[in-house]
Amino acid sequence: MRALLDLVVPVHCAGCGTAGVAWCACCAVELSLDPVRVRPRTDPGVPCWALGPYRGPARRAVLAAKERGRRDLAAPLGLALAVALARLRAPDRPLVLVPAPTRAAAARRRGGDPVARSAAVAAQWLIDCRTVPLLRMRPGVRDSVGLTTYERAHNLRDKITTVAGAVEPAGLAPNAEVVVVDDVLTTGATVTESVRVLGRIGVRPRAVLVTCAA
Ligand SMILES: [Zn+2]
Repeated sequence: MRALLDLVVPVHCAGCGTAGVAWCACCAVELSLDPVRVRPRTDPGVPCWALGPYRGPARRAVLAAKERGRRDLAAPLGLALAVALARLRAPDRPLVLVPAPTRAAAARRRGGDPVARSAAVAAQWLIDCRTVPLLRMRPGVRDSVGLTTYERAHNLRDKITTVAGAVEPAGLAPNAEVVVVDDVLTTGATVTESVRVLGRIGVRPRAVLVTCAA
């Protein structure tokens, strides 16, 4: 079946274009280096980590997952997040991943939310870890491409909210570590607003982890 599909829709590595694989070993290695500490201009007040810079295979994979409907990339991107989380997490504490919210219109266009999908894959790889989608974006948020740091923050102000009926904070284990996960960190506006809104319901994330830092 795979061979037949390859004839119809040839598979190429989303990171480097190598034919015959969706994600090649070289690109996988590039994404599994130690996560690096990053400091966005808009500071969410918790440590931010990235798998790497917003370039090369990681950038191409994020864009393919986001803009070209490559749902299959949730597997390698999620695994890479899991490797980083295994290094960053405290031992013997439950881990809760909160995906940063995506604009609903963008998620509909993309056939789902690539960040939530990758986070769910990451949680499957880790012991005592789950994804809790606590955040959503209200309508009326513009695409942030081309906006300045100030405009991005203003665009999101009061536009991120907690999901009604999502797990009550009391439902999270008291010793759980919460990590906000996103695909790209640019100015930090989205994760800052996410951390602020989580704080209002008593959830204090320990860190932010993104695939790429621009
Ligand atoms: Zn590759």
